[in-house]
Amino acid sequence: HDTLVEIQELKKYYPVTGGVLNRRVGDVKAVDGASLDIKEGETLGLVGESGCGKSTFGRSVLRLTEPTDGSVVFDGEDITEASKDRLRELRQEMQIVFQDAASSINPRMRVHEVIEEPMKWLTDLSEEEREARTRQLIEDVGLSVDHLQRAPHEFSGGQQQRIAIARALSVNPRFIVCDEPTSALDVSVQAKILNLLDDLQDEYNLTYLVINHDMSVVKHVCDRVAVMYLGKIVEVGPTDELFDNPKHPYTQALLSSVPRASKEKLDDQIVLEGNPPSPEDPPTGCRFHPRCPEYIGSVCEEEKPELREREDKRTCACHLYE
Ligand code: SF4
Ligand code: MG
Repeated sequence: HDTLVEIQELKKYYPVTGGVLNRRVGDVKAVDGASLDIKEGETLGLVGESGCGKSTFGRSVLRLTEPTDGSVVFDGEDITEASKDRLRELRQEMQIVFQDAASSINPRMRVHEVIEEPMKWLTDLSEEEREARTRQLIEDVGLSVDHLQRAPHEFSGGQQQRIAIARALSVNPRFIVCDEPTSALDVSVQAKILNLLDDLQDEYNLTYLVINHDMSVVKHVCDRVAVMYLGKIVEVGPTDELFDNPKHPYTQALLSSVPRASKEKLDDQIVLEGNPPSPEDPPTGCRFHPRCPEYIGSVCEEEKPELREREDKRTCACHLYE
């Protein structure tokens, strides 16, 4: 598989203002030097505790929010420098599906207008072509052409997410960021939407970045998984290897807190102390050091561990493997 999206040292800082003069007093470093390669045709999961920067990362990759620093290369093109016009063209290639379909759909539109809208803005398809594609899409996402004249609020949450997926697909993208695509849905509906995304991947040659806090979802749908902690990627690996034998102490803790079927396993649970530190003032060296059960001394506090492939072909950022 070739790399489709190459993300290097991506940063997104939000200024914090304060004091009587309301001056900039610091930054929230939501994403702080995150690097990741996404291969063509794969489903890559991005996991981590809430507030670790996952969503900001997804949006910054698409330039829906402007990165502070770093680069994103999409299919060989550095899009961090792309002009507004070029970005508009790139919107055809890169789309996003949000957690809350209802709030991302204009309630005053009919379903066919919702699906057609991106085609109007981003493609030069004729009205007939747009209509034909809309009819195809509504069936491909498991609804029917009879639904096209109805209003979005007449549909269930799962059906609305299907409509949002059809809308994202309308411009024929190659890469879709799915930001917690099923987290707002009932468990019984989640699996159906995940299976739909999987079917569509083959049919439309899609590459996915699936942002999710739910490990069971990630295990079910992803080919590889990236783990984020305080704005940095700390481990990346094939899903099975990462779940069976996590390398980074943070990944180990994250996975051990997932409820398991067998009771004996509970003894293995690693309990992380405290909340993640503030992204305004991240710890020195390895950011995980104040909470790390494997802490090996001053090197952890003083030196930033590099995210790189180790001898056993596993990629993580931890001094244990130096
Ligand atoms: Fe723990 Fe040190 Fe590895 Fe960080 S570098 S995860 S503190 S052992
Ligand atoms: Mg697949």
